[in-house]
Amino acid sequence: MRILITGGYGFIGSHVAERFFKEGNSVFIIDDLSTGSKANVKIDHKFYNLSVTDKKCEEIFRMNNIDVVVHLAAQVDVSVSEADAHLDSQSNVLGLVNILDLAKKYGVKKFIFASSAAVYGDTDVLPIAEDALNRPMSVYGTNKAIGEFYCRQWKELYGLDTIVLRFANVYGPRQGVKGEAGVISIFMKQIMEGQELVIFGDGKQTRDYVYVEDVADAVYRAAGKTPEHGVFNISTNSEHSLLDLVDTLGQLEPVKGIRHEDKRKGDIYRSTLDNTRAKAELEWAPKYSFDDGLLKTFRWYQTEWSRGLAAATVATGGASSFAIRPYFENLLLFALVALVSYNNAYGGPVDFRLGLDYNYVYIAIMGFLYGKRQSLLATVLSAGILIGNYVLRGGDLVAMLYQAQYLAHLATYLFFGVVTGYAIDNKERIFSDTNNELDNLKDRYTFLERMYLEGSQIKEELYTQIVNSDDSIGKIYNIVRELDSLEIENIYTAAAGIIASVMKTKGTAIYTVSKNHNFLRLKTKASDAPNHLANSVRISDHPNLKEMMKTKKVFVNKEMDSSYPDMIAPILYEGEVIAVVELYGLAFESLTLYHENLFKVTVLLISEALTKAYLYEQGVQDKKYLNGTRVLTPAEFGKVEAEIDRRKDSFSYETALLKLSEKRNDFEELYHTLMSCIRAEDYVGLREDGFVYVLLLNISENLVTDVLARLKNAGIDSAEVQGESHAH
Ligand code: NAD
Repeated sequence: MRILITGGYGFIGSHVAERFFKEGNSVFIIDDLSTGSKANVKIDHKFYNLSVTDKKCEEIFRMNNIDVVVHLAAQVDVSVSEADAHLDSQSNVLGLVNILDLAKKYGVKKFIFASSAAVYGDTDVLPIAEDALNRPMSVYGTNKAIGEFYCRQWKELYGLDTIVLRFANVYGPRQGVKGEAGVISIFMKQIMEGQELVIFGDGKQTRDYVYVEDVADAVYRAAGKTPEHGVFNISTNSEHSLLDLVDTLGQLEPVKGIRHEDKRKGDIYRSTLDNTRAKAELEWAPKYSFDDGLLKTFRWYQTEWSRGLAAATVATGGASSFAIRPYFENLLLFALVALVSYNNAYGGPVDFRLGLDYNYVYIAIMGFLYGKRQSLLATVLSAGILIGNYVLRGGDLVAMLYQAQYLAHLATYLFFGVVTGYAIDNKERIFSDTNNELDNLKDRYTFLERMYLEGSQIKEELYTQIVNSDDSIGKIYNIVRELDSLEIENIYTAAAGIIASVMKTKGTAIYTVSKNHNFLRLKTKASDAPNHLANSVRISDHPNLKEMMKTKKVFVNKEMDSSYPDMIAPILYEGEVIAVVELYGLAFESLTLYHENLFKVTVLLISEALTKAYLYEQGVQDKKYLNGTRVLTPAEFGKVEAEIDRRKDSFSYETALLKLSEKRNDFEELYHTLMSCIRAEDYVGLREDGFVYVLLLNISENLVTDVLARLKNAGIDSAEVQGESHAH
C-alpha cells in the first residue's frame, strides 16, 4: 500500500512511518518541519516540504495514487493554541480540511486522524470511554474535536473511510519538549542536564501514558480494518502520577531533586482512557508496560545525549538572536560625535566646525544603516549631546524647556530620526517582501519541477512495464492493428481470434445486436466456444444480458452461473450497444479485476474495426433484408431461388421449400423462432404473395418432415411446396 503520513517527521509520525515501512508499504511524508526533523526518519521514503494547508499538496495525491492517509500534522502546543487560536486553527482545522478534501477527490481508501484525549476535558468518570461528553478545555482540544466532526462529515457525505484515534499521553524516543506529553521528555532532559525536576502542583495529578511504538501499532492496525465504530481511544487504561514517574525515573538514574511550582491553570487533575473498543475492534493492545516503555525511552535519551544529538531533538526552539553589532556601532558613533561637538564647543585642538550639526549626520547614518530602532536611539543620544553642551555651558535645564530654539532643535532631531528610520524600514520591508515572493516562486518552481521529474519517471516506468509485459497494451495494439488491413467480411472472425489469444481462451463468440435491440445474432465463434451456442438470443430472456445492455459495462460471471459466458463486453457505437463479445472457459483465477480490465481494453481496441464491419453489413443488409431482420426481401429471395435454380445442374443434394401458412409481419420475432428450428445455411424470405418461405438446402426427405414438426412445435404452421423445390 501507498501511505501518506502528514507530520511524518514528528515524534509519532516517524514511528508510524517506520511501522508501515517494515510491513512492506511505500511511505510518503508531508511535513513543514515546524517541529519535526528529517533526522527522525531513516527509512526509505519520499518527502514533501509543505504545509498541510498548502494547495500544492494536491500534486502529491495526483502523482502518487495514495491508498491510506495518516493525518498527524498539527500544531501540538496547547499554550500556543491559547495564545494564538487563529494559528492553531490554520494547521489543525484548515490543514485537516485540505487533506480530507484531497483524500476524497483522489479516492483514498482510508483516512486516519490523530485526535487527542484533550477533546474530553476534565471529567469525574474514569476511565473515559469514547462516548463520554466532549468538553475540551483548550483551543487545541476544541480544534481536535472540530477535526473529528469534519472526519465524520466526510464519511457520511462523501463515503471517505475515516477513523479517529484519540491518543492518550504518548511518550518515547524522539519526543520534543513542547508537545502534549512533554513531561516525560522534559524530565529526561532535566535528568540528562543534571537539573532538578520541576513539578507543577502536588505531583499527584495522573495521566494515561502510552508508549509511542504501541501508538504506531494502533495506527497500522486501524489502516487495515473496517471497524464498526469510527472513534477509538488509544491508551493503556491505567494512570500514573508525576510522583510515580519521578520514582520510576529515580530507579534508572539518581534524580538531583524536585522543585514544586504552582499548579498550572487549566491542567486536568486525573486522566485515563478506556481502550476496550480499540482492543475489540482494532484487535490492538498496548505491549509496553509503563516501566518497560520508560526504560526504552531513557536508554534512547542516554545514547542520544552522549552523542550530543538529543540536544538538537529536544531543543526548545532557536532563541531569537539579539544583534549586538548595531548598538555597538551606534554607541561608537555617538562617542565620536560627542567628542567632535565638545571639541567644537570648547575650542579643542582641531576645528571641525563646517557650519554643520554633526548630530544630523549621526542620526542619518544610523537610520540608513539599521533603520528606525537605531535612528531613534541616535536621536535620543543626539538630544543628550545637545543638552549636555547646554549644561556644560552653564545653562539651566528647566530654563531650557522655555527656550523655543532648543525645543525646535530637539524636535528636528526627532523628526529627522523618525523620517530616516521609517523610510529605510519601509524600503527594507518592500525589499524583503520582494525577496520572500521570489523565494516562494523559487520554491514553487522547485516543487513543480520535482513533481514533473517524478511524473516523467513514473510515466517511463509505466511505459517500460507496458511494453515489456506479456499482456502489454503495445502488443495488443499491434495485433489489433492487423484488423485494419483485413477484408471487411473477415473482421469478425479475426477479432474473435485476437480476443481468444489475448485472453488466453479459445472460447470466444461475437454477437451483433438486432436493430430494435431485442435479439443477439451470432456472427462468429472461435473454435472452443461451446457447441450449444444459440444463433439467436432473445435479450429479455437473460436478466444479466439485459442489465449489461443498459449499463453498457463489462459483465463478469462472478456467480459462476453455467448458463452464462464468463465475461461479456459490449461494443458501442454512438452510445448504443451494437455487438457483444463473449468469453467462455476462462480459468477461475482469470476472473479478476486485472483480466476484466484487460478484456475491456482489448475490446476497446477492436471496437473500431468491428464497428466498421457492422456498419458495412448494415448497409448491405438494409438492401437485402426486411427491416433489419434476416428475412430476405422478395427481390433478394427471388435472386437466391434463381441462383439455386441456375446452378441446379451442379447440385448433388436435395433442397426443399416450405411455405408458412399464416401471413406474418412480425419478421424479427418470426426469424428468432425460425432460427431455433432451421440451420444457419438455410434461407428465409418473403415472396410477392406476402407469405414467408423457408428454403432448406442439402436436405433429405426425412429431415424435411423433422423441420416441419419442429416448426409446428414452435407454433408455426407450414407445408412443403411440392413441385417447386429446387431439387435436382
Ligand atoms: P510533533 O510536533 O512531534 O509532530 C507534528 C509534526 O507535524 C511535526 O513534524 C511538524 O513539523 C509537522 N507539522 C506541524 N504543522 C504542520 C503543517 N501545518 N503542515 C505540515 N506539517 C506540519 O507532535 P506529535 O507528538 O508527534 O503529534 C502528532 C499528532 O498526534 C498531532 O496531531 C498531535 O495533536 C497528536 N497527538 C499527540 C499526542 C502526544 O502525546 N504526543 C497526544 C494526542 C494527540
